[in-house]
Amino acid sequence: MRIKDKYRFRAPSGREVIIEAEPDVRYVDHESGELLVPVSRLTPVAPTGSELPWAVDNLRFCNHCDQLCQKDLTICPTCSGQLEPML
Ligand SMILES: [Zn+2]
Repeated sequence: MRIKDKYRFRAPSGREVIIEAEPDVRYVDHESGELLVPVSRLTPVAPTGSELPWAVDNLRFCNHCDQLCQKDLTICPTCSGQLEPML
């Protein structure tokens, strides 16, 4: 069972890493030394026994092309449309 949430972090140069992040901790890219900025929280959110981001519980329908995509995305990977914010 994973109890910490995973976050996608991005360096200013564009490199991305996934980290089970702690609050109030600054993360630095080990290759470039750049400060990493959190850009999204990954599904499934903690606490969870699943590490499967493609499980049905973690997908939603795109409001443009009606294809399934991950809930944590803001751009549809199928049609590149802007997804509506999750409430
Ligand atoms: Zn779409």
